Amino acid sequence: MAISPLLGTTVHDAARRTAEMLAVLLEPIGEATAVERLIAVLRAHGEPDPILISAADLTELRQAASDLRPVFAAADAGEAAARLNGLLAAHAGLPRLTDHHGTSGWHLHVDSRDDAPWGEWFLTSACLALSVLLAERQAPPAGLCESPSCGKPFVNVGRGSPRRYCSGRCATRERVAAHRDIHRA
Ligand SMILES: [Zn+2]
Repeated sequence: MAISPLLGTTVHDAARRTAEMLAVLLEPIGEATAVERLIAVLRAHGEPDPILISAADLTELRQAASDLRPVFAAADAGEAAARLNGLLAAHAGLPRLTDHHGTSGWHLHVDSRDDAPWGEWFLTSACLALSVLLAERQAPPAGLCESPSCGKPFVNVGRGSPRRYCSGRCATRERVAAHRDIHRA
């Protein structure tokens, strides 16, 4: 899959794209809605049109998402690393540099070929991005929002300690709820 050099080649962007795709794939929504949202995410991250995702592709993408979820749920860097190593051993090929025939900047792939199916590309590109992020931060590369009403996947690309919530909105909601519980007690 070709990703533009401006938007898609950095590890942080690939990690964010992974979390955004995972959020769509883990949601219990219909096929057409899921495909529509996935295409919007890919387009926002620089994938050129036309973007075609078949029903079979979606099945493979959802399988990849359920394989990736334990990496996001990992309690610490060691568990995340073990999960990533397992997925890389099972699914990744040799590292390969590609510029998609001059249409993007040079970047690494560990899928089998440039036109690999979406599911294979998603799983291997996610593992690569999250592995680099883990090594860069020496911390879990990703998480699932701790808000009981949310649970959305996110990646730890910012500075500072790993986050607990997907967004400022969830963090505020949980802080307010905790405050209310203290006063009620
Ligand atoms: Zn959240």
